[in-house]
Amino acid sequence: MSYRIALIKGDGIGPEIVDEAVKVLNRIAEVYGHQFEYERVLMGGESIDACGIPLTDEAIAACKASDCVLMGSIGGNTSTSPWYKLEPSLRPEAGLLKLRKSLGLFANIRPAYLYDELKSACPIKDEIIGSQGFDMVIMRELTGGLYFGARQTTVENGLVTATDTLTYNEAEIRRIAIKAFDIAMKRRKNVVSVDKANVLDSSRLWRKIVEEVAADYPEVTWSHMLVDNCAMQLVKNPGQFDVILTENMFGDILSDEASEITGSIGMLSSASLNETSFGLYEPSHGSAPDIAGTDQANPIATILSAAMMLRYSLNLDAEADAIEAAVKAVLSKGLRTVDIMSEGCTQLGCKAMGDAIAAEISK
Ligand code: NAD
Repeated sequence: MSYRIALIKGDGIGPEIVDEAVKVLNRIAEVYGHQFEYERVLMGGESIDACGIPLTDEAIAACKASDCVLMGSIGGNTSTSPWYKLEPSLRPEAGLLKLRKSLGLFANIRPAYLYDELKSACPIKDEIIGSQGFDMVIMRELTGGLYFGARQTTVENGLVTATDTLTYNEAEIRRIAIKAFDIAMKRRKNVVSVDKANVLDSSRLWRKIVEEVAADYPEVTWSHMLVDNCAMQLVKNPGQFDVILTENMFGDILSDEASEITGSIGMLSSASLNETSFGLYEPSHGSAPDIAGTDQANPIATILSAAMMLRYSLNLDAEADAIEAAVKAVLSKGLRTVDIMSEGCTQLGCKAMGDAIAAEISK
């Protein structure tokens, strides 16, 4: 089969890590007899430098004409890069927000998985983690809520007041809840829906709609949890979670907390999906300008994002499994990039890690 993939390499370590993901995808194509065609698309700092804006209409059109988008990361050093002297709508991140909106990417999936081989990097005590570790996904609503509601700053009698608005309608809640329950069906069939229903009207509507959606999934066990309790439970008993479903801002905060307890930001993938199977896949970390160009970046988060892309957008489950198995095989051989290095292991650079993973791919 032939597939068209839009490639946004981006800034900082972006080009280095995307090149390694492409190396692994090309090996998949060779072993499984597929054809991947790549269309280079500019976004973020590299688009500002080339076109004066962080995302052009042509770039959006090129993404729409593809089956899916694989991205590295965008942005530079926010204190020193000239990109951050521009007005906010012209900065690198504005390109990503515009792309998410243009492609209707409302569902953000971030897995947080503790690899046995990396347990020593987890900041939580062994007796809490137990022998099972944890394996969860956070399903975050991405295009509504506080980050997209009306906002204003007013001055009255010399007193400055800033207002942000948290709005959700029932259709926005229903579509993300359906995605979460669908994903739970492919996993351990449990959903915890997180809100602040003891205070917020939007959360009370969230609860009502989640309950309606849950009724269509009799095989999935589910419960509601308040967001403050969830933040606590993530460090007290992370193994209890399978799928966490939540709105935009709560998901932003909880997914960072969940990634931190895996102890390895360079390992965490993410997917942002629309109502069809189209999606944008990227590592959870940023462009790490401090190590760009030094061959020290860990490419695994991007390689695992490519695996998610095969699974969720291209429906190639066996090929996605093969990438995930190759990553595990490399880790169990003691091969590590510097960010996850521990005693007795062998340190590799970004390119050599990509080579090692590609070499493990087999049917
Ligand atoms: P960051 O995630 O880029 O880096 C934080 C720390 O983690 C750094 O020390 C970095 O060296 C390290 N790190 C990150 N990824 C790594 C990897 N793959 N391998 C090894 N080490 C890794 O966060 P930051 O420094 O706060 O942000 C840098 C830039 O990235 C900013 O411009 C920010 O806006 C941008 N950013 C972009 C995205 C995105 O593209 N979606 C997401 C987050 C941040």
